[in-house]
Amino acid sequence: MKLSTAYIPVLKETPSEAQIVSHQLMLRAGLIRQLGAGMYTWLPLGLKVLQNISNVIRREMDAAGSQEILMSTLQPAELWQKSGRYESYGKEMLRFKDRHEREMLYGPTNEEVVTDLFHQTVKSYKALPQLWYQIQWKFRDEIRPRFGVMRGREFLMKDGYSFDLDYERARKTYETMFTTYLRIFKALGVNAVPVKADSGPIGGDLTHEFHILADTGESALYYDAAFEDIDPATLTLAQAQSLYAMADEMHIPENCPVPPERLKTRRGIEVGHIFYFATKYSEKLEAVVTGEDGQPVTTHMGAYGIGVSRLVGAIIEASHDKDGIIWPAAVAPFQIGLVNLKATDAQCTKVADELYASLTAQGITVLYDDKDDRVGAKLATMDLLGLPWQVLVGQKSLENGQIELKNRKTGEKSFVPLSNATAEIQHLLNLKL
Ligand code: ATP
Ligand code: MG
Repeated sequence: MKLSTAYIPVLKETPSEAQIVSHQLMLRAGLIRQLGAGMYTWLPLGLKVLQNISNVIRREMDAAGSQEILMSTLQPAELWQKSGRYESYGKEMLRFKDRHEREMLYGPTNEEVVTDLFHQTVKSYKALPQLWYQIQWKFRDEIRPRFGVMRGREFLMKDGYSFDLDYERARKTYETMFTTYLRIFKALGVNAVPVKADSGPIGGDLTHEFHILADTGESALYYDAAFEDIDPATLTLAQAQSLYAMADEMHIPENCPVPPERLKTRRGIEVGHIFYFATKYSEKLEAVVTGEDGQPVTTHMGAYGIGVSRLVGAIIEASHDKDGIIWPAAVAPFQIGLVNLKATDAQCTKVADELYASLTAQGITVLYDDKDDRVGAKLATMDLLGLPWQVLVGQKSLENGQIELKNRKTGEKSFVPLSNATAEIQHLLNLKL
């Protein structure tokens, strides 16, 4: 994509309505525009990041045996009347009537719909377990939408659901999802800490939230310092259960077994939440199958959420510097930012054009700044956009038959011979730095 024709409306000034750095950077880098309270339009760069995150999630969910479906954003009230949540869900639910005066809602979550789907389509224990997920927009009329996409009213969520024959099997599925979540966050290039969450009226110990540590996080986390010595990507459910790590509402100082000198507290952004439901929904909405002995068995369910649009903000909170965003390779909207430092020079333009063509031909995604602008402004824009690698084509280095490569994260620069440029760039991308 050439920057001269790309739709990337960057802002020079920091928008005053944005309180936290990720929101400021998302507006400044032209990822989103606000439409109304908690509602956003995703512009090309922002949408690419959203799609990249979704695809990492898809890959890992598929590998874990979950199958993708897509449910309607609109739901009939009737199913929620059956589960008993139509009254209790409260004002966060957007309710309306269709032309036939039927009560409808915009889905804030999908347990009712998915359990009813199971009820209608799965009849035998032989089909179990079933794991389904979707990546779909949700609407919650949050009392205080804020921090940009971090707490929106409309937001993109990956929501997964599982159906098992009994508690033991459901626990195994939960364990698989727990490690799948750790793999997802690692693949996205962020560190997400699993903490025990409040299981509410269902009880039990099978519910975890996954948090990205950031000072702007809305939750307080309390954990044993020993937790810091563990690479989250190697954590298992058993380890996580044995170490103290709690989301705020779960931490009761009087009951905390960790001595004060070892108790750490940090703020976190909740990017994922997994629960075991037992038969809460499967009883009311009849997710029942015929068991091996011919008798009906009520299935044990779990639900697994990831805040896909929230992750865009959370990743930026965790990965930026004073100059702008620093995208982890897996989610970056383009792999390479190619900059023609002197668009009025015929040689620079020829070399940059050719590099753009050869990189693109190799399937590398390139944002090519072909604009005639001040060098300082061009470099500042590339830093702001945060692509992992910059390829700079300028008069001086070309005199030596070279181009310059810059790593956005480390700031490290190197010169490579022009003749070898495409292969060298390919090599760097394969290293996944
Ligand atoms: P929170 O405590 O932040 O309000 P929640 O516990 O109500 O979130 P869940 O029902 O667990 O949220 O939803 C699954 C995931 O969806 C959350 O872990 C979070 O990442 C994301 N999410 C929830 N509400 C919002 C929102 N208003 N805007 C963006 N993402 C959200
Ligand atoms: Mg939650």
